[in-house]
Amino acid sequence: MSYLMTRKDFLRSLGIGLSGLFCAAQGLGFSFSARSKAKSVKGHIFKNDAPRKPWKWSIEGFYYASDGKDVQCQICPNRCVLSPGDRSVCRSKVNIGGKLYSLAYGNPCAVHVDPIEKKPLYHFYPNTPVFSIATTGCNFRCLNCQNWEISQKRPEDVRFAELFPAEVVSGALKTGCPSIAYTYSEAITYYEYMYDTAKLARKKGIRNVLVSNGYINEMPLLELAEYLDGANINLKSFDDQIYQCLNGGRLLPVLNTFKTLHKVGVWFEMTTLVVPTYIEDPEMIKEMCRWILKELGPDYPLHFLRFFPQYKLTRLPPTPVTTLERFRSIALKEGIHYVYIGNVPGHPGCHTYCHHCGKILIERQGYFLKQYNIESGHCKFCHTPIPGRWGASENKSISKLPPRYGGNISMESNSFPVLHAPDPLSKG
Ligand SMILES: [Zn+2]
Repeated sequence: MSYLMTRKDFLRSLGIGLSGLFCAAQGLGFSFSARSKAKSVKGHIFKNDAPRKPWKWSIEGFYYASDGKDVQCQICPNRCVLSPGDRSVCRSKVNIGGKLYSLAYGNPCAVHVDPIEKKPLYHFYPNTPVFSIATTGCNFRCLNCQNWEISQKRPEDVRFAELFPAEVVSGALKTGCPSIAYTYSEAITYYEYMYDTAKLARKKGIRNVLVSNGYINEMPLLELAEYLDGANINLKSFDDQIYQCLNGGRLLPVLNTFKTLHKVGVWFEMTTLVVPTYIEDPEMIKEMCRWILKELGPDYPLHFLRFFPQYKLTRLPPTPVTTLERFRSIALKEGIHYVYIGNVPGHPGCHTYCHHCGKILIERQGYFLKQYNIESGHCKFCHTPIPGRWGASENKSISKLPPRYGGNISMESNSFPVLHAPDPLSKG
């Protein structure tokens, strides 16, 4: 999938990329507020930070342009231009000798079996286990990142297991997981590893789930979507300024990702982490819901998650539950059928209510289901079709994680072990 272009094409592609973004930001006409004075937290390229040679867990990048010396990664809207020896914003891609390499192929730093509800996916084969992997790296710089110990690290800085795509698929089969999730850090940064694994998984009858910020270009997304069954994509706000100063990204490419997934028929759910002082304007939530309804329709679930002080935002309090309730009411009133409150265990907003008759379809206690009233994808009471992906495997219990998959590594823990990798990548 990689291809070469002339230096002229290469420079032209840069021009188009930059002016396109500029016009997009202008065209959307976002309201400027005090936030517009806040600094963008966009990540930068790491000069001369690449290893001298590719290592065992390297593969040539799938989408990039090269003039024989400099390369431009074209997986995500960052479109990093790397001179020989440079490392991308996401820390996973490097230019070695005029070629783009991923350093994250077969070396996950997290491997878990999770309930699918944890992603969160509430309308996607409920109560099934999902084999979940991540490598290090992220193309964003969210001030509130809950997985910063792996998202803001280089692949060679964090302890890893060796699992090439075939081993991930056999791991899922051995642990009785009908799905694999590419999750925790940012799956787009290990696109090549995810793509090859997903393709193989599909062949073996295993489903693929992307959990992501949605910051990906259309071509690689379309290519990947052929093998995707479900996704949870963050819609971190509905304001380009907030995207820049809270996340280090832009809004428009994320909106395009939703439109693309909708167009090709991949099931997805949307997640908005409600960060106090950043995500607090009810008008913005209204505007966001109206966009969702117009472009995607009322059926994709929307999750409002409670924020807890994290990473660079420890000064902020947790989201007041009343804010989450207010946002949920707004979204329901606007017409979105399934709106959830997350990270507030036991809250009535965690359950699924039939959008037609209002009865409880799924009652949740944490990640466990207490009631399940969906039959062949329909409400048991009024027989209305319920949007989502439902199946025969709904009542399978969560598998126990075999110790060799590192079940002791907790993504929630602040004491995530960081080890330095041995020689292959040390410079010099
Ligand atoms: Zn009903």
